[in-house]
Formats: sequence, C-alpha cells, structure tokens
Amino acid sequence: MKMPVLFVGHGSPMNAIEQNRFTETLSGLAQRLPRPKAVCVVSAHWVTRGSEVLTVAKPRTIHDFYGFPAPLYQMEYPAPGAPTEAKRVAGELKIKPDETWGFDHGGWSVLCHLYPEADIPVFQVSLDDGRSLAGHIELGAELARLRNRGVLILGSGNIVHNLRRLEGDKDAEPYPWTVEFDSKVKNALEIRDVTSLAAPEHWGKPLAALAHPTLEHYVPLLYCMGSTTERDAVSYPYEGFEYGSLSMRMVLFGGENESAPHSI
Ligand code: ZN
Repeated sequence: MKMPVLFVGHGSPMNAIEQNRFTETLSGLAQRLPRPKAVCVVSAHWVTRGSEVLTVAKPRTIHDFYGFPAPLYQMEYPAPGAPTEAKRVAGELKIKPDETWGFDHGGWSVLCHLYPEADIPVFQVSLDDGRSLAGHIELGAELARLRNRGVLILGSGNIVHNLRRLEGDKDAEPYPWTVEFDSKVKNALEIRDVTSLAAPEHWGKPLAALAHPTLEHYVPLLYCMGSTTERDAVSYPYEGFEYGSLSMRMVLFGGENESAPHSI
C-alpha cells in the first residue's frame, strides 16, 4: 500500500508538552493513517551544506531551542533509527550518510503526539542550503519511492513563519499577509502549481519576505509536494494561525482514500 505524505506546521516547541486542539489532531491522525514501517522526517531544523540522511541506529533527542521551561529540555523521544532504510536512501539519492545528528524538535515535537510510544523507526533527511526551491521539489520526487516501502514522509516546518513579527498572544489575530500567503500556498497545492510553489516571490516579493524572512520552514513542504502526484488528494487535518505570524496548517497528501478507485 502506498503511504500518504504529511506536512505539519509545528509552531512553538511548547506544543511538545501541551495538550491543545493541534496536538489532539496529531494524536487522532495517527489512528486514521496506515501504520508506517518507518518515518522519514524532513525538518526545518536540520540545514546542511549538501543533503544528508541520518543513519544512526539510536538517534539522540536534540533540544535545539532556547529560553523554554525545563520540562521541554527533559523530553526524550527514544524511537529507534532506521539505518538500513536510511543507508539505502543515501545510495539511491546519492546523498551523504550522517552519524552526528539526531532528532531535532521539528521532528520529535510532532512525533511525540503522532506516535507517543516511540516504537516506529525514524530517520531524517536534511535541507541542503545550496539547493534551489525547484531542486528541493526534485529531491522530494526522489523520496517518493519510500511511500511504496511503507515509509511515511513527514515534512515539518510552517507555511508562514516570521519569528520577528510574533505577537505575544498565541491567539492574536493573524496579520493580513499571514492569511494571504497561507491562502496562496493552499490554492497552489490544490491545483498542483509547482511553478509558483518554487517561486513564491512571484506572489509579491514583500509578501514572500514577510511570510518567510528565511526559507527553512517553507522548504519541508516542497519535499512533500515533490513526493506526491495529482492522484494524491490534498486535505487539511488542521488549519489555524498562532502568534499572528505562524500558519499551523497541516497538509495530508493521499491517505485514507488512497486505496479507493481513482476516476480519471
Ligand atoms: Zn521550527
């Protein structure tokens, strides 16, 4: 069975230790999806020069954030790695195996709700900072083969992510540009407008710069897009905004209806 692909807007690391509508959505989602043999995480928080894949058998939990409460630093996500699958990916995609990274919070803050038992092997693929946006989509297409091997591709970033413009209140009204960029992306996903997704500045340079002063939280979505086709129905298990400048939209490609007959 072909696995779905999931993109999660992870937002604040605090979601790892909180219970709210977002985390409950993640918990419920795992029940609805086929149980994967492994998870391949593409996280905003692992950026490297040249693509890398985590081949560690027992990855450490990385607490890559500052100024948060102590319980967050005590969180561990003890899932095993998936060295055999990860090494296979390194060979197939001709990318570098890595033994130094672990699970960054882009992965574990989501996985701790999705698979709280930490009993599914997990590996990560990094974001190559030398690659164009179109190049990330192309590498995503190479990852698509994992879906036929029972691997869930999990992109973790945010469709809008501007930390410089965060409001103090989690429930603050989103800025107009937050809503606008989120809606442009949503529309592009639905019509599979890969060209626009690879060049969001065409929606307006100021808009794209406000939505993503830096691109690392946007790029994981491109891997998800690249690994899917028009046969994968797009749905949104969760939508919403936090702190005015974050989109928390989740995108599920394929999934529950994947095995249903497809009309052409
Ligand atoms: Zn993040």
